[in-house]
Amino acid sequence: MTLSNSYRQITGATAVAGVAGSPVGHSLSPIIHNAWIEAAGIDAVYVPFNPPADRFSHFAEGLRGGAVRGLNVTLPFKEAALGVAHEVGERAERAGAANLLIFNEDGSIVADNVDGLGLLGAIAAQVTGFDPKAGPAVVMGAGGAARGAASALIMAGAPEVRLVNRTLARAEVVAGAVGGNSKAFSLDQAKAAFDGAALVVNATSVGVASDDALSLPLEGIPVTAVMMDMTYTPLITPFLSKARLLGHPIVDGLEMLVRQAEPSFEAFFGRVPPPGVDVRALCIEALKAREKAPA
Ligand code: NAP
Repeated sequence: MTLSNSYRQITGATAVAGVAGSPVGHSLSPIIHNAWIEAAGIDAVYVPFNPPADRFSHFAEGLRGGAVRGLNVTLPFKEAALGVAHEVGERAERAGAANLLIFNEDGSIVADNVDGLGLLGAIAAQVTGFDPKAGPAVVMGAGGAARGAASALIMAGAPEVRLVNRTLARAEVVAGAVGGNSKAFSLDQAKAAFDGAALVVNATSVGVASDDALSLPLEGIPVTAVMMDMTYTPLITPFLSKARLLGHPIVDGLEMLVRQAEPSFEAFFGRVPPPGVDVRALCIEALKAREKAPA
């Protein structure tokens, strides 16, 4: 057997980082990080891990041996990731979940949550001049993603965060946990929540449009409000498509994924991602290939 010229040597010196999720096959993080690793010319590799859903803590415990620099953490392990850490940063504490674990040489684990940085970075990348302090932000949903978004917006100085959720009680819990001036609304109260909003983020796991699971009065939202969807399959979701038709500036979830990967890469490898690599285009290519692949 001969190896192609593009084969990258993996040795005992190769730094290892990765993403843990279940399932994890859909994760675009390996594409993003390995493209940056390649372009930076560093001796490292980024691997997807799929630990059994009920054994995440055993899995993470095993990585304290020093073989792995760090992990991104995705569903369903974000809360469990907080539980295995010896040190929890303020962002993860407020979000009630971690999406980044760093394994220190002394065996300790540090938890962080960079989803909020991803959200704010995505808005800055796709909309000129947005200031989180400018007005109330609406976050739809009350799961881990919504909690991360709400806490990041409070920390960035949003004067008010309104959490709109199917289950009002869950929104109330999140509002209480993230602090600041945050309020809970049911779906029936969405019109009031949208009043005067400067930003509306869909952090539910369903689409939001008249022909989808959630039918909400988007027409009442000030047209200057930035509309963002955390979901990126499809890239332009029904929510974003409707928002664009109504004349809003829009921000997609893929940009958030790419932007949260930047501080992760820096935490793993001690340097910022190299410039000039269009990881967003690589992700779009991968998403298109998946659409075409037989189910
Ligand atoms: P989660 O914990 O499962 O929360 C799901 C939320 O959606 C809950 O608030 C739930 O309401 C609501 N929901 C689900 N089905 C609904 C329906 N039929 N009608 C109304 N509301 C419904 O999920 P999560 O971890 O927060 O993630 C949410 C989404 O964000 C996922 O699609 C995830 O992939 C995405 N995300 C993207 C990024 C990124 O980088 N782009 C990062 C993180 C997450 P109830 O409370 O009433 O059940």
